[in-house]
Amino acid sequence: MTDTATTPPALPGWRHTYSGKVRDLYVPDDGATDVVLVVASDRISAYDHVLPTTIDDKGAVLTALSLWWFDQLSPLVANHVVSLEVPEQVAGRAMICRRLQMYPVECVARGYLTGSGLVEYQATREVCGVPLPDGLVDGSRLREPIFTPATKAAVGEHDENVSFDVVAAQVGQDVATRLRDTTLAVYARAEEIAAERGVILADTKLEFGTDPVSGELILGDEVLTPDSSRYWPADQWQPGRAQPSFDKQFVRDWLTSPESGWDRRSEEPPPPLPADVVARTRDRYVEAYERITGLTFGA
Ligand code: ATP
Ligand code: MG
Repeated sequence: MTDTATTPPALPGWRHTYSGKVRDLYVPDDGATDVVLVVASDRISAYDHVLPTTIDDKGAVLTALSLWWFDQLSPLVANHVVSLEVPEQVAGRAMICRRLQMYPVECVARGYLTGSGLVEYQATREVCGVPLPDGLVDGSRLREPIFTPATKAAVGEHDENVSFDVVAAQVGQDVATRLRDTTLAVYARAEEIAAERGVILADTKLEFGTDPVSGELILGDEVLTPDSSRYWPADQWQPGRAQPSFDKQFVRDWLTSPESGWDRRSEEPPPPLPADVVARTRDRYVEAYERITGLTFGA
């Protein structure tokens, strides 16, 4: 754990080009344009802030889990992974990937109602233009999974839920349809796999791009990690309240507790996390990985 936001490491053969909230992107020094090195840091974000404290092993857990899922999903959709022969400093938390033209859409599928979907439902009885029946509560299972896209926001800004038609206006009807159908197919398969492990996949966010040469639709970024998805222990699911989850719950709970002294609505950056919150959060990420894959982390 460190108390300074990490700076992207210098890596031989690679030039740093971009940092998101969690990942650092590098391109080859030699000017090759077909690949990108995607490095998952141990940074953690909450409430649209990158926190000043890192979570040990988080980058490695997210990378291992994404790789496992890319493999599970390969009969359904091509993914961006090219190789794991990455510089030693970032081994285990980096992947060499096909460099894609990313669609500016967060492709979200929801099988359960919570979070921003619940907020929208309570105001309008719809989520992203999809009408839903009366009587749903926090954690309700939807009759069928729905596609609820969001526009990608800059660091520090909130993604905005939009309707399918807004996506279609942005990327074209054909691409929008493929994004929706592929997102729902991935969700259905992943929900089924998670269920076999006693885990509910409540919702997930995917990012797609196209290969600029072949034009192929490719699943990029991270996939089905606790950062991009809500995972709930199935045996504790109880609609009508917030569900326990395999993710940043401890971080969010602490940040919004009086103990943190932080006001979410203020302009102030969040404070450093206490060591026990860091340790429990690390364990939660590892537990998610192990529950879902059936593998031992680090083995
Ligand atoms: P933002 O992109 O808004 O900063 P974020 O904070 O979630 O979102 P990270 O996950 O930290 O970002 O960074 C990953 C970035 O890399 C994302 O912008 C994502 O779209 C981009 N990306 C992922 N895979 C590829 C790829 N194969 N080619 C090009 N860009 C990619
Ligand atoms: Mg991301």
